[in-house]
Amino acid sequence: MSLMTTDEEDEHRAGQIGRVLVDDATDPTAQARDLPLDAHLHTKLSPDSSVHIDSYARQAVERGIAEICITDHVDFVPGTPAFDFVPFDVRERTVRDAAERWGPDGVAIRFGVEITYDARHETAIRDHLRSHAYDFVIGSVHVYEESPFHASRVAAWVDGRPLDEIVAPYFGEVLLAIRSGLFDTIGHLDVVKRYLHPYLTAADLGERPDILEPVLQALVDSGVALELNTSGLRQAVGETYPSALTVTRFRELGGSRVTVGSDAHRRDLLGWRLADAYDALRRAGFESVVFRRGGEPVRIEIPAGRGGVAAP
Ligand SMILES: [Zn+2]
Ligand SMILES: [Zn+2]
Repeated sequence: MSLMTTDEEDEHRAGQIGRVLVDDATDPTAQARDLPLDAHLHTKLSPDSSVHIDSYARQAVERGIAEICITDHVDFVPGTPAFDFVPFDVRERTVRDAAERWGPDGVAIRFGVEITYDARHETAIRDHLRSHAYDFVIGSVHVYEESPFHASRVAAWVDGRPLDEIVAPYFGEVLLAIRSGLFDTIGHLDVVKRYLHPYLTAADLGERPDILEPVLQALVDSGVALELNTSGLRQAVGETYPSALTVTRFRELGGSRVTVGSDAHRRDLLGWRLADAYDALRRAGFESVVFRRGGEPVRIEIPAGRGGVAAP
């Protein structure tokens, strides 16, 4: 098997590309082993990653991660980095070819996408998803150039505003994304806490569960899965998107569909802290994660916790 690029080149290029997430993940014990699924991964077919798909595949084989889903960014705001970054057919062929190469080694590779939801472009997103088949579709609200959460204006935005008004533009878009019916899951549901750092902390949001409740209820009502995304654990907010408490609240509200992802943009972050995420889901009362391999959603059993599942 020939590789187009080496892991070392991946690492080198990752440091040079703009929009790279600032990840601080150096603890090797955080690397997951023997897990069924990592459903949120970025390769060099995203503008903010330089990982060759084979790097993830090789690690998945080595660590016993049975299934991975490549969810490279696709944005619909002209001029943004992930707008028309790599044509659909190239992305699809890259993932399907890798799936064929690595399947015999015991890892299933799925072709997903992370689409930036923006209500102004919902028609374009809908048209795209109607005519392009993905195995699994994540819809995410990201900070954008004119966003009040953009680093250049977030300080002014939070100044003098109550918390619910501060986060309203973000969660308003998230609600529209959920109700659009376009997505299997919503990526990093409360990532707004990252954009607000350090002006507001995760604890500030944690004290106001009423703010997230309508969003959780919309997930329950629509059947869209809640993603437990571990990237927040390696960023300044220091907790998952969303927090374990929020996952528990989702369950109490009647939520039954959850999924998990490391949101890796670096090869060593495949599966990062994902065992903890699975444990947290189990503690919240979930026995399976929901995923899609094209067609209808499937349920994948959550493995028993390492050393036994602690009582809540
Ligand atoms: Zn995202
Ligand atoms: Zn992502």
